[in-house]
Amino acid sequence: MTTHPTPALISRYAEGDTGLDDATAWAVEAHLESCAACRALLADAVDPGTRDLLDRVAAGIATGIATGPAPTRHRRLRRTGVTGRVLPWLLTAATLMLVAVLFERTFVSMPSLVLLIAPMVPLLPVAAAWSRRLDPAWELMATTPRTGLWLLLRRTLAVLVAVVPVLAVAGWGTGHSPALWLLPSLGFTAGTLALGGLVGVDRAALVLAVTWSVAVVAPSLASRQLPAILADGSWPGWTVVTVAMAAVVLLRAGEYRRLGVDRT
Ligand SMILES: [Zn+2]
Repeated sequence: MTTHPTPALISRYAEGDTGLDDATAWAVEAHLESCAACRALLADAVDPGTRDLLDRVAAGIATGIATGPAPTRHRRLRRTGVTGRVLPWLLTAATLMLVAVLFERTFVSMPSLVLLIAPMVPLLPVAAAWSRRLDPAWELMATTPRTGLWLLLRRTLAVLVAVVPVLAVAGWGTGHSPALWLLPSLGFTAGTLALGGLVGVDRAALVLAVTWSVAVVAPSLASRQLPAILADGSWPGWTVVTVAMAAVVLLRAGEYRRLGVDRT
């Protein structure tokens, strides 16, 4: 087997080297899930101070699990790393939708702001859910075997579970078909993950949000017309986009597992 990451790469990964791009980090993570030899190397690569800290944290967690109360739903969500860091962004998303609903009800001659911003609403919390710059537990996550794309998908799902009801309330309050706010949101989320494999999820979310704002939202508000891509018959197109983006993410996951992106 010639696809093991180099010891130097594992060492950089263990140190949380910020110069290591997300794609490479995911590749290492995906490999670590299935390779005990490299997990052993990872354990050795952690400096003694950090290892001592991890040992103490592990002992503390084991004691807590043994003596603490049964897990609640909130604790299960925290295990995916979503709570806390993502909560402010979820609140921002909910506030944005509330403003959009009020705007739409006040300015009835304007195109639907709810439909215009719905595709971008999940992007902020999704980016926050997978940004190493925002993740205080990165070192702990890095030494946990089950991370990588699987964790990204779980975190994304947790974000969607929180965001979709907000969109649903906004869509219901303004009388729009669910296909017109749900499918574009899913399409943009899948697109962020697909593009995120190349440039990092947070950057991908920013690029897509800015592109959509400049190319669609601003012209629509200026011309006071909803664009054709958000018209009633547009849902088949959004379905195709969503499925295609999801397929790209899954195909890329396979590439990461073969570790074809070792860039040290
Ligand atoms: Zn290996």
